Amino acid sequence: MLGKKIIRWYSQAKRDLPWRRTGDPYLIWLSEVILQQTRVSQGLPYYERFVSEFPTVTDLAAAEEVRVLRLWQGLGYYSRARNMHAAAGMVMREFGGAFPRTYRDLIGLKGVGPYTAAAIASISSGERVPVVDGNVYRVLSRMFEIDLPINASGAYTRFSEVAAELMGELSPGEFNQAMMELGATVCHPKNPDCGHCPVAEECGAFKNKSQAKYPVKDKKVKTRERFIHYLVFRAGNKLWVRQRGVQDIWAGLYDFYPVEKENAEFLVDDEIENLFSEKLPKIVAIRESREFLHVLSHQRIRARFWEIELEKPVFITNEGDFMEVAGLDKLPKPKLVVNYLSAYFPDE
Ligand code: SF4
Repeated sequence: MLGKKIIRWYSQAKRDLPWRRTGDPYLIWLSEVILQQTRVSQGLPYYERFVSEFPTVTDLAAAEEVRVLRLWQGLGYYSRARNMHAAAGMVMREFGGAFPRTYRDLIGLKGVGPYTAAAIASISSGERVPVVDGNVYRVLSRMFEIDLPINASGAYTRFSEVAAELMGELSPGEFNQAMMELGATVCHPKNPDCGHCPVAEECGAFKNKSQAKYPVKDKKVKTRERFIHYLVFRAGNKLWVRQRGVQDIWAGLYDFYPVEKENAEFLVDDEIENLFSEKLPKIVAIRESREFLHVLSHQRIRARFWEIELEKPVFITNEGDFMEVAGLDKLPKPKLVVNYLSAYFPDE
């Protein structure tokens, strides 16, 4: 039986990872949230830091959001961290601090989708729900040569059914983890290692040499190009920073005064004039940075930073204030801002 073969392979080949040594749904959830869109090698130190800083959901719920975002810095997709913090609060209010273990309760938590709920429920309580993540889509679509695009509507349901059939009466937690591990370590997106695959004999794509065709994806999603010009006001060793508001990919993070444009062209003097109208502050110098690029799944953000040296701090807007450069290290910031500061203010 195919599912049994995969579990047998998993019991010998699985990587020894800290979240695999626990049945605690809180710790499994932490690992799942951190590992979404993140490689294990990158996510592992973050997982260890979060566990040591917030060993229980009570500790996480009690933390300031800014502390959670700062620990998250570098992982990107900050909505995951904000949702995680909000979900910890929900666990305290709605479940008295006992982290839920059933799919039904888990799916109600902020930021928890069908995939994460299925992973936590099956691993922590053995609930019979199949997990379908990017790895599982790839393995199943290749094994059974499924032509349905994985981003088509109905794909999740269809692949869940295939996975459930393959799981049969096997242990749900073991089976789900085995499928994800097979996709992550053997059935790679490029150059799958079919020579070491436990199901090569039964795999349709291997038999027909069609591995590169699967999984099928609809290419409808367009990438949007954004141009952000940051005005970095500096007075002595202080920079003007502000915390971004809600409804934003970087909500809660700190950055400078942003001006978004349709293209890379930018006249910094005009922007300064617009911002201050007649009461222009005394400007000592203006320095333009190189371009910084940040690529997200549907956006390419090109940013340039204009350091505007002032004689003394002035009122910019009431959204932010001047802070010592050295103090910025403690604040959560978008990757672009971190990269700019380490390139242009390396010693502070
Ligand atoms: Fe993937 Fe190759 Fe295994 Fe098929 S045989 S599941 S393509 S690794």
